Amino acid sequence: MTYGRIALFCLVLSLSGIALPYPRYQSISRSETVLGTVVRITLPETPGTKEALSGAFDLIQSLEKVFSVHQSDSELSRINRLHGGRLSPAMKDLIKRALSISQLSSGAFDPTCGALVSLYRKAEKTRRAPRESEIIKAKESVGWEKLRVEGDHLSMPAGMKLDLGGIAKGYIVDQVVRMLRVSGFSHGLVDGGGDIFCWGFNPEGYPWQVGIQNPWKASNILAILSLSDRGIATSGDYQRYLMIRGKKYGHIVDPRTGRTVQGFPTSVTVVASDCATADGLATACFVLGREQGMQLLRNLDGVEGMIIDQDGQKVTTPGWAKFLLKSVR
Ligand code: AMP
Ligand code: MG
Repeated sequence: MTYGRIALFCLVLSLSGIALPYPRYQSISRSETVLGTVVRITLPETPGTKEALSGAFDLIQSLEKVFSVHQSDSELSRINRLHGGRLSPAMKDLIKRALSISQLSSGAFDPTCGALVSLYRKAEKTRRAPRESEIIKAKESVGWEKLRVEGDHLSMPAGMKLDLGGIAKGYIVDQVVRMLRVSGFSHGLVDGGGDIFCWGFNPEGYPWQVGIQNPWKASNILAILSLSDRGIATSGDYQRYLMIRGKKYGHIVDPRTGRTVQGFPTSVTVVASDCATADGLATACFVLGREQGMQLLRNLDGVEGMIIDQDGQKVTTPGWAKFLLKSVR
């Protein structure tokens, strides 16, 4: 799993003077460092909450063992070594979800971009920018259309490397939420270090409030959204980037050019009915840029988003306003 960023904040604000839609309740929050970030889960206090929280973090760790590109014994690493193989139900599910985002974004989102991603990661370690020939070679191994899933079996060309870092965190958040809802929690928030899903009401009795960080000033909030039963994710290059000999490289690659996406757009936030969709689309729009990214988001039902470019220009989908509690200039 990749290192996280905290581009979204969860807030509990009191809105004095407005009737509560739901009674206040006591809550318990637990944070743990997993998935290379701090994951925070908030649930109503019940006799079973502590146990449920432990179960939730156990599930996160077991899914990290499936999807991590950094753990050599993960299922993903095994698939990459053997050019495919038998898929666990979770891996099959996530690969299918990832491929549907590839299709929607015409390949801007591509889970087969692992060789390119690791080329830039290696470049950071060795402090040598990738050579043109290395970029061309890695780019040749990328191609979501070449993945074959038949039954529970995946096959892919030799040299191709999967990287699910653009969607796995959102997917894991969704799985945790599903488990907690089945256990009877009708309110809660799972924050996977910037990939968030919230349902029901917050402990103050209002829809959950999620703040979007100002990309230029981490301590400032740009907008506050009021959300319930929604996933939200942000992709940005202002906190996560590679530095190679003084030059900044983004952590998201453009599979069409083999280069990292440089500078534009600065930050993409997507709200969707599940967190995996929000996560995958945010990464896709980061590659597509403002015009094409907005076009993609506008055409999807139940999806809203905001793209902020390098000059601070904000563009939003028409339905974004319905979630907006407060916008800060
Ligand atoms: P996110 O922070 O969700 O935007 O995901 C970024 C991560 O997704 C990177 O660190 C890579 O692991 C992976 N990634 C980079 N470029 C792409 C791409 N074009 N399509 C899919 N995944 C990508
Ligand atoms: Mg993403």
